[in-house]
Amino acid sequence: MTTTSTISPLIDPYGRPIEYLRVSVTDRCDFRCVYCMAENMTFLPKADLLTLEELEVVCRRFMAVGTRKIRLTGGEPLVRRNIMHLIENLGAEVGRGNLDEITVTTNGSQLHKMADDLYRAGMRRVNVSIDTLDADKFKHITRWGDLNKVLDGIDAARSAGLEIKLNAVALKDFNDEELGDMVAWCGEMGVDMTIIEVMPMGDIGSENRVDQYLPVSLVRANLAKRFTLTDLDYRSGGPARYVEVKETGRKLGFITPLSHNFCESCNRVRLTCTGMLYMCLGQDDSADLSAALRQHGVDGLDAAIVEAIGRKPKGHDFIIDRRHSAPAVSRHMSVTGG
Ligand code: SAM
Ligand code: SF4
Repeated sequence: MTTTSTISPLIDPYGRPIEYLRVSVTDRCDFRCVYCMAENMTFLPKADLLTLEELEVVCRRFMAVGTRKIRLTGGEPLVRRNIMHLIENLGAEVGRGNLDEITVTTNGSQLHKMADDLYRAGMRRVNVSIDTLDADKFKHITRWGDLNKVLDGIDAARSAGLEIKLNAVALKDFNDEELGDMVAWCGEMGVDMTIIEVMPMGDIGSENRVDQYLPVSLVRANLAKRFTLTDLDYRSGGPARYVEVKETGRKLGFITPLSHNFCESCNRVRLTCTGMLYMCLGQDDSADLSAALRQHGVDGLDAAIVEAIGRKPKGHDFIIDRRHSAPAVSRHMSVTGG
């Protein structure tokens, strides 16, 4: 299918160009991180998922109206069957100059097998999520994960030529004391790191978010005792604020979704594996692109995309405190992919 279009580049009602599409290609995962999922998660019926071909059509229609960057996420994107087909097809568009970048956010469990293929397909960067470098704690936080396998995956990715960024969620009484060592470790490996505040998304069973919540401002203050952190002007269009760590020379991002400091530059929307488009990570409003595509074809899809962007809200409404430990949005992060 062609990526040309008769509709103009997408600009939302607040003047923000929409250039970045995040696609959650599956809600399933081979881990059960305690802040992300309940252990006995009920996943979507497979029949509800967009096929990989349909996901590609939606990506291409977004590219036709200005999307320059696509990130695949999930759930665990690399466990979706035949996901390499989609990555190869979108990677080819990077080669043709129709897309600046195709990337993935992964828990790293499949990287040892897939890193070379990802690079060959045109991917150059991957985000890998690790919250601790202690194998026992890693098992505890992911419930099902194996740290050594993930570290092997990181080695494989670096050997393949993929640039890595590490994502870590800041968790009270879990990794507060360790984040400094992780910053140093990233420095030794020559990779950037982002520290994420826990967001109130989806029911996570018996775990309590108030117990998990560690303000990133506190993390930063602690790290500043050990490292020299200099604010950078660099912005990714997303919620991260970056500093340079003088001692390692690497960038360190802080994602504080509970503040509104990033909404004004938000350039992204999120597609779920069932074809729902969420215009904001922290709001429930969505558009059913699956129905538009299946009932009205590509023209219907184009119209639904334009209509949805016209509803992109100015910002989110996240709050976590003692009175608000219930999820601010009912869907899990694994549905919209973070
Ligand atoms: N499975 C992949 C992974 O873990 O990287 C991709 C999907 S995961 C939902 C994307 C990112 O969201 C991960 O870095 C994960 O740690 C983070 N995440 C999940 N639930 C979260 C929550 N409730 N608050 C903040 N970050 C969360
Ligand atoms: Fe899976 Fe990623 Fe959620 Fe962990 S954070 S359960 S790896 S989707």
